[in-house]
Amino acid sequence: MSVAVKPKVEELLPRSLVRQRAEAAATVAREFADDVDRNSRFPSEALEVIKEGRLLSLMIPVELGGEGASTAEIANVCSILGQACSSTAMVFAMHQIKTSSLVTHGQGSAWHRGFMQQISEKQLLLASATTEGGVGGDMRSSICAFEDDTDAASFRLHKEANVISYGKTADAILITARRNAEAPSSDQLMAVVQKHQYVLEPTLAWDTLGMRGTCSEGFRFSARAPREQILDKPFGEIAAQSMLAMAHILWSGVWYGIASDAVARARACVRADARKHPGATPTAARRLTQTVGALQQMKADVLDGLRRFEIAKADEAELSSVAFAVAMNNLKVTTSTAVADIVRQAMLVAGIAGYRNDGAHSVGRHMRDALSAAVMVNNDRILSNVEKLMPISRNESGLLG
Ligand SMILES: Cc1cc2nc3c(=O)[nH]c(=O)nc-3n(C[C@H](O)[C@H](O)[C@H](O)COP(=O)(O)OP(=O)(O)OC[C@H]3O[C@@H](n4cnc5c(N)ncnc54)[C@H](O)[C@@H]3O)c2cc1C
Repeated sequence: MSVAVKPKVEELLPRSLVRQRAEAAATVAREFADDVDRNSRFPSEALEVIKEGRLLSLMIPVELGGEGASTAEIANVCSILGQACSSTAMVFAMHQIKTSSLVTHGQGSAWHRGFMQQISEKQLLLASATTEGGVGGDMRSSICAFEDDTDAASFRLHKEANVISYGKTADAILITARRNAEAPSSDQLMAVVQKHQYVLEPTLAWDTLGMRGTCSEGFRFSARAPREQILDKPFGEIAAQSMLAMAHILWSGVWYGIASDAVARARACVRADARKHPGATPTAARRLTQTVGALQQMKADVLDGLRRFEIAKADEAELSSVAFAVAMNNLKVTTSTAVADIVRQAMLVAGIAGYRNDGAHSVGRHMRDALSAAVMVNNDRILSNVEKLMPISRNESGLLG
């Protein structure tokens, strides 16, 4: 007879506290969410609690000062924060996506290992600069290039970076460019550039419908830094093997959080109606039922994405398979569409109370934030990339994989 080995309490404790730390940050994020949105300002109060809770180093390996948390745990934090303030959650998600590139592809480099230690010690915040003026949202294409500085051990880089979320607040930016001035547009590398190594000249303000607190302004980016800060792996491989999946899963976690808070607000309206009219089923209960079903479906999609990623991480062939690429891209298109649909349904359930910009049942901010999902790497661009894979993609008939 096999005896189940009981895990030690101290082994469980830090993990079980992740949720509590996330909820502490969410409480503060919720308190300031409307102000962050109204003033299109960075959610600094929530980020302070995130840093106090050491959540910025959650994914970094234990030996480098982090906690080695799984993608599922991090996606769960995204969803907890997303229920409170979409911008806070998206800032957290984007930082974790950048961290994942270091964790997955930077462990063989002394510089990047040292930098991961710094992230853990100082709770550094990482931003991303893939979007470039002139190539639109095609992150697999660059105009700018890493060029030799005065000596070949250093590079200089200038990029028209049209969108860098929280660029002014970040401690470092992970930026893509062509390998050198002669390289074709798709031969890209990615470097970590620290705040003291770059200058950001503002070019485009961030006055948007939603996600206003991500402060995703445009900048003319100029930097000088040692070449050792460039990740060895071609950016195409980083994108395919970790970044794309992490982005689509963690964004989906944020969007699930937004949708689930909108449904909670709609549900509160139906409950209030039921209390007012005991014995009668509220008129909006039918639509609430359908909306809860759609939220359930969205959750299943995110969980399936997580499951697939965990399996693929342990299997190089699966990770670079067409089926995996199709699944991860479809996850993004599906959940980004679902979040806007679900919030719109929640608004119909809540009626005028949901349509208002004020009041406990308002889902106005949720609606505006949810609309960013489809353009955060445009769904049409993703679909056109996926449709090219259709003739060579395999049929997946098995329920369990
Ligand atoms: C909240 C938020 C935060 C962001 N933060 C960052 C950040 O920190 N760093 C960063 O680098 N970027 C960031 N971005 C930018 C994002 O990643 C995309 O690059 C950007 O949103 C794409 O903008 P676009 O739709 O105008 O561009 P494009 O993708 O170029 O699309 C332009 C138009 O062309 C159409 N289109 C494009 N390709 C096709 C195609 N193949 N078939 C049919 N139609 C097509 C689209 O439908 C759209 O109408 C952020 C975006 C958002 C919304």
